[in-house]
Amino acid sequence: MSQQGYVAAPPYSQAQPGMGGYQGGFGAGPAQPLYGHYGGQPQAFTAPPTGIMKSPVSSAAGMPPPPLSSQYSPNIQQNGAHPQRYPAPPASSAYGQPAPSPYNSMASQAPPPTQQLTNQMSAMNMGNYAPGPMQSPPPPAMGQPPMPPGPQSPLMSPPQSPPATMAMGGPPMAGPSMAGPPMAGPQMAGPPMAGPPMAGPQMAGPPMAGMGRPFPGPPPPGPGGFQQPGPGAAGPLGYQQQAGPFGGPMTGPQPGMPGGFPGAPGGLAGPPQKKLDADSIPSITQVIGEDQERQGGQVYSTNVRGQVPPLVTTDFSVQDQGNASPRFMRCTTYTLPCTADLAKQCQVPLATIVKPFASLPKNETPLYVVNHGETGPIRCNRCKAYMCPYMQFIDGGRRFQCGFCNCVNEVPVHYFQHLDHMGRRVDFYERPELSLGSYEFAATLEYCKNNKTPNPPAYIFMIDVSYNNIKSGLVKLICEELKTLLENLPREEGTESSAIKVGFVTYNKILHFYNVKSALAQPQMMVVSDTAEMFVPLLDGFLVNYQESRAVIFNLLDQIPDMFADTSESETVFAPVIQAGVEAFKAAECSGKLFIFQSSMPTADAPGKLKNRDDKKLVNTEKEKTLFQPQKGVYEQLSKECVAQGCCVDLFLFPSQYVDLATMGDVPSHTGGSVYKYNNFQVETDGEHFLRDLRKDIQKSIGFDAVMRVRTSTGFRATDFFGAVYMNNTTDIEMAAVDCDKAVTVELKHDDTLSEESGALMQCALLYTTISGQRRLRVHNLSLNCSSQLMELYKSCETDSLINFFAKSAYRAILNQPLKNVREILVNQTAHMLACYRKNCANPSAASQLILPSAMKVLPVYMNSLMKSAPLVGSTELSTDERAHQRLSVMAMGVEDTQLLLYPRLIPLHNMDTSSEAPPAPVRCSEEGLTDAGMFLLENGHSMFLWLGQASPPDLIQSLFNVPSLSHLQGHMSSLPELDNPLSKKVRSIISEVQDKRPNSMKLQIVRQRDKPEMLFRQFLVEDKSLHGGASYMDFLTYVHREIRQLLT
Ligand SMILES: [Zn+2]
Repeated sequence: MSQQGYVAAPPYSQAQPGMGGYQGGFGAGPAQPLYGHYGGQPQAFTAPPTGIMKSPVSSAAGMPPPPLSSQYSPNIQQNGAHPQRYPAPPASSAYGQPAPSPYNSMASQAPPPTQQLTNQMSAMNMGNYAPGPMQSPPPPAMGQPPMPPGPQSPLMSPPQSPPATMAMGGPPMAGPSMAGPPMAGPQMAGPPMAGPPMAGPQMAGPPMAGMGRPFPGPPPPGPGGFQQPGPGAAGPLGYQQQAGPFGGPMTGPQPGMPGGFPGAPGGLAGPPQKKLDADSIPSITQVIGEDQERQGGQVYSTNVRGQVPPLVTTDFSVQDQGNASPRFMRCTTYTLPCTADLAKQCQVPLATIVKPFASLPKNETPLYVVNHGETGPIRCNRCKAYMCPYMQFIDGGRRFQCGFCNCVNEVPVHYFQHLDHMGRRVDFYERPELSLGSYEFAATLEYCKNNKTPNPPAYIFMIDVSYNNIKSGLVKLICEELKTLLENLPREEGTESSAIKVGFVTYNKILHFYNVKSALAQPQMMVVSDTAEMFVPLLDGFLVNYQESRAVIFNLLDQIPDMFADTSESETVFAPVIQAGVEAFKAAECSGKLFIFQSSMPTADAPGKLKNRDDKKLVNTEKEKTLFQPQKGVYEQLSKECVAQGCCVDLFLFPSQYVDLATMGDVPSHTGGSVYKYNNFQVETDGEHFLRDLRKDIQKSIGFDAVMRVRTSTGFRATDFFGAVYMNNTTDIEMAAVDCDKAVTVELKHDDTLSEESGALMQCALLYTTISGQRRLRVHNLSLNCSSQLMELYKSCETDSLINFFAKSAYRAILNQPLKNVREILVNQTAHMLACYRKNCANPSAASQLILPSAMKVLPVYMNSLMKSAPLVGSTELSTDERAHQRLSVMAMGVEDTQLLLYPRLIPLHNMDTSSEAPPAPVRCSEEGLTDAGMFLLENGHSMFLWLGQASPPDLIQSLFNVPSLSHLQGHMSSLPELDNPLSKKVRSIISEVQDKRPNSMKLQIVRQRDKPEMLFRQFLVEDKSLHGGASYMDFLTYVHREIRQLLT
């Protein structure tokens, strides 16, 4: 049983005609799904296309021959027994902080010649995996001692979590209600099916994605586009059943899935589902609770290759012992399959989610900065990987072999060090780059634009002063807040004030720039009304040091609301505002961030003018994707310019109607920026919510003008990237800025066979400019296991990371494909991954049993929730801007954020121990968990509700709201009164703790059971049937189980 994972009998007692809950979930399969091609004509799925897979032989060309494994086993295994090598990093650590660069005044300097940062990167990375002179691996170094055998053998897996069967309460569910006959194929295709049932063994479901790649996007530009999966990609080792979708005729609608995708909650129309015991199917709250119990409060050491970290929801601390902390890098699996065939067979996506600037808790050591002075960091000559624990020193310390490309490099004289009897450099523990997973290098001038030390970044505040924003009081609110916010601009540790410069622009149809030079008594305004050719009318005095110009800036902030108090101008521009920011940064030769506060769609006659193209009739049609596509042209070009200059755009939107968020959010989502949205903004109810966001945003730790490169050891590589990034080529991930909450999801693919012995190594190197203008390289290293046993892969999966990948790839796919296809691919890939486990890894058992791998047992809950998420659900009741907003937000999210978004926390507050420190444990996100006399807090990182049962005890209402009963509650409350009693204090402290933890502020919405606004709350109960047409968890699981069984017949 230990290998079986979760086992359950089918949770249904009869053949399920029609799967009542399903109508909305995923509609019927199209006759010719647009699968696997991008804009071309529909393909006839007759034969596997040729040339999809590179053969290992051809891909090996130009690569060094496979290494003799013993020569360079990653030496991270040596790291084991040294708990704490470094004292807490003082500003003057042993590694030498680079001296703060002198600030170059930007005034009156000529604009620099435009230079793309990529020039530098390409110079830096010359020869990366390019065919070059073959370099033989060295002969095994004589006299080099073998790696010490130890507990951290590279092949050793970390202790696995107990099999799910234990957790799930053991034996298959066999209550009377579930003991029915197992469903058999034909019975499944019950009456409500629209269209022909699927025939026979040729399981002809909707399109399957190959290679764990659910949504093939457009092939990456440039040479080296590789392994585009497509129909027919299923290899000889794949399921025979897989031949169906590609070889036979495509099916019509899914059996049991009434065709179409009703906009209304038609899912309710099916036959009633048998009520099931919710506790009998895998529960996310239980999985989270168990992991917290097992690993909460513990120290997680990163000294074991391929070790699966605690869940993102678990509270643990990290000790870096040679691999990057899971706060920086997480993976969908920590054991890669050895071959592309195996990867294709199981279809588990291989990806790593990198959050290069992740915040570390106070008890963890910030990254050390290594300064090699003018010589710069040591790198491999061939692949340009940076010195790291995976470099193997040989030849008495005179040479090192690169763990990534196997090239043997000379050790520069100044870096030479003797080896100890273990073959390890004697300075091993004094050099972070030899013994840690994450560290920084001070970058030399060759890593800087134009070989010049960068100026510190600047923040420009750009305030829409059109009629709506003045009338709502927003402009006044912003100006007031800035006075205190500017005091708290991010600053380098140990410095008195921030080096960040600030500038101010107001605008409606025209732009007003302000001279706030410290020498002035009064700020001066300069107007630019020609928005077609945007320029910055002043250089000196526009971007200033806040501390020096504080008096003039205060003066300006006081005046702005009055200056425009009588405005009747309601039209605005938008693209010229961004353009002005870029021009200002160009002139000042700096990078930075624009904070744009805008209320409406830019309709004034200017570049980037938009018109209302919202059309609900497109929902559930082939053209629905156009609602998510940004308008091409001006904004595309602007993104490019912004990234080249290191100009990040944060957009705060205050719309009262459709604003074409898909287009307005385009530049922010390519520049590492964020989009915030406050519908029908009112200062009284939304002001605090907005200000919390603004404060968090301004104070985030952040790097500018960044380029990231992911290097891998031979046999696999990074092939696709999802995030608020810009890709000029296939490898350089450009980010105008990257803050502590932004993550890039990197897809990995094989191009050769991986070795179990040497494993798979990754190095993410991020070149960026600090908030004080230092150029740095941040390096994160992670080593994974490789196995030819699929069981090992399934054991090492991380569901939270998998769902992050699926969410991002699905949200990108809907730009190009009908939503219906995307949903189908998600379901099918889920079924396929689980079926492959069942076939290859689980003990034989009755087909009627649902067997889930332990590490994936809650994948179906998340997957179902993803399919019901606003962008994917296809309901006319959801606003187009809302859907576009969620799509863009998710693209930049890390694993924690997608986990919470897709499975909100539902916390019971009515029966908690108010004297306890810890908040109550969350319960399942289902109506079943609610009680009439209960009170619950629900939060998902974006929305927060306080739900009050209609039978809430009056004393509880009194304690919290200071009113005698529910009926006395005011509508539209967005905060709790501050009352001096234990319950009130406890609830408010839980709420504020949650607010502090999340990247975004959430507006508290108070809803009473059975009141109309309760509908809003109910859509977050993701285990239940969705109001907008999505299946309940149980229905989904039932459906997936049936799919699995069909795949296995
Ligand atoms: Zn190398």
